Amino acid sequence: MGRRVVVIGGGAAGMSAAAKARRTDPTLEIVVYERSGFVSYGACGFPYAIKGEIARVEDLIVRTPEQFARQGIQALVRHEVLEIDPDRQTVRVRDLRSEREFVDHWDDLVVTTGGQPGRPPLPGIDLAGVFALRQVEDALAIKEWLNEQRPRSGVIIGGGYIGLEMAEALAAHGISLTLIERLPQVLPAMDADLASQIEAELIRQGVDLRLNQTVQGLVGDERVRAVIAEGQTIPAEIVILAVGVKPGVALAQAAGIGLGPTGAIAVDDHQRTNLPQVWAAGDVAEAWHRVIQKPVWMPLGTTANKQGRVAGENLAGGDARFGGIVGTVAVKVFALEAAMSGLSLARAQAEGFAAEAVQATAGSRAHYMPGHQPITVSLVFDRNTRRLLGGQMVGREGVAKRIDTIAAALQAGWTIDDLAELDLSYAPPFAPVWDPILVAANLAR
Ligand code: FAD
Repeated sequence: MGRRVVVIGGGAAGMSAAAKARRTDPTLEIVVYERSGFVSYGACGFPYAIKGEIARVEDLIVRTPEQFARQGIQALVRHEVLEIDPDRQTVRVRDLRSEREFVDHWDDLVVTTGGQPGRPPLPGIDLAGVFALRQVEDALAIKEWLNEQRPRSGVIIGGGYIGLEMAEALAAHGISLTLIERLPQVLPAMDADLASQIEAELIRQGVDLRLNQTVQGLVGDERVRAVIAEGQTIPAEIVILAVGVKPGVALAQAAGIGLGPTGAIAVDDHQRTNLPQVWAAGDVAEAWHRVIQKPVWMPLGTTANKQGRVAGENLAGGDARFGGIVGTVAVKVFALEAAMSGLSLARAQAEGFAAEAVQATAGSRAHYMPGHQPITVSLVFDRNTRRLLGGQMVGREGVAKRIDTIAAALQAGWTIDDLAELDLSYAPPFAPVWDPILVAANLAR
């Protein structure tokens, strides 16, 4: 019999680890325990399934337990791991359907318990019609509420990227929306002047945007009817909680798996934890940030897939390395695209860099091409070393993929002058002769 691998959590990281381990060593016994009813789903697509752009939430499932079984991976849904015993190398598991508990042995353990959506202890938080969005069941429940209750008003609490994506999704159902954010801007990781373009887009699309406001509670009868913020009553027949996520570390912490300074599981570049034969990956773990050269917690699907793959290869005897992230994200907010990579100006200054920013607005295509749109590019660099530290962009087209140029430059450790000399493509339908990135970079010279 081969060595036994237990994976806790069947999300992006867990199933990537399982699949890579299987490919690397066909003799391994691999079992995945997943608390929810689904494994291997693309959570990033939920807002588009809720909007209706993707017909069914189930279309986001990449592979079913039956498909994994054909690969020799046992993926058990509705199985919750209650405890890890690192000395005996066991986990205690509850089958949530039968309520039966049992103990399973592992030679290698992969912890991919993911993130947990924040749930502030507000009065009325448990009313029907109040949803967080993390798992397939959440997305299905929101769709069902939309179809059966036909809410006409809604409140989104939180202006991070999930709150913004959900604004577009709910607006598509004709819901009159209020978005409440306790900070002075949406998308707090972005510098305020660029985020203001997103705020303008929300208002243009009819969203009642309330910045600097704190929610005091939710009110209703058998279901939610309103949200109270700053003493005002805002009608809400549906409420989306999008107040951020935390790493789901309780199980790991109880077993003595070490956490890093961010509160997520500390891992090395092979996804090893502090305990032998125990690996961690995805939203539950930290990632090395290449620009600031320290671990960060940035829960993203792209990192979860890569870290899971590295863990899976290494536990199967490989020598794979996860080189870290530069922090690249993109978000669509109605007709606007916003994206960033590396550090914002505020973050770069907080990290102690002699940081400054240059900002330019230039066209997405040649000015004579129909449909060209302005793109605002902000580039952050260190005035002493000239090193590029980050980039942010907002515009109506050509933003989300242009940011990848910045990601590549950051990973390569370029200066802003290297970026200014970059031989970017030019043809009128795709870009102007001076791409917006080059226009901004040249302002720093
Ligand atoms: P998770 O997906 O959280 O999976 C962890 C799994 O572990 C869960 O299924 C959970 O049920 C299970 N689990 C937890 N505890 C136990 C236990 N004790 N026993 C058994 N099972 C357990 N990222 C991007 O890069 N781009 C995007 O555009 C993007 N959009 C997103 C939009 C939304 C609405 C959401 C919710 C997320 C989005 N993300 C995006 C983030 C991305 O989905 C996550 O980073 C990714 O899913 C993390 O994968 P994971 O496997 O680490 O964690």
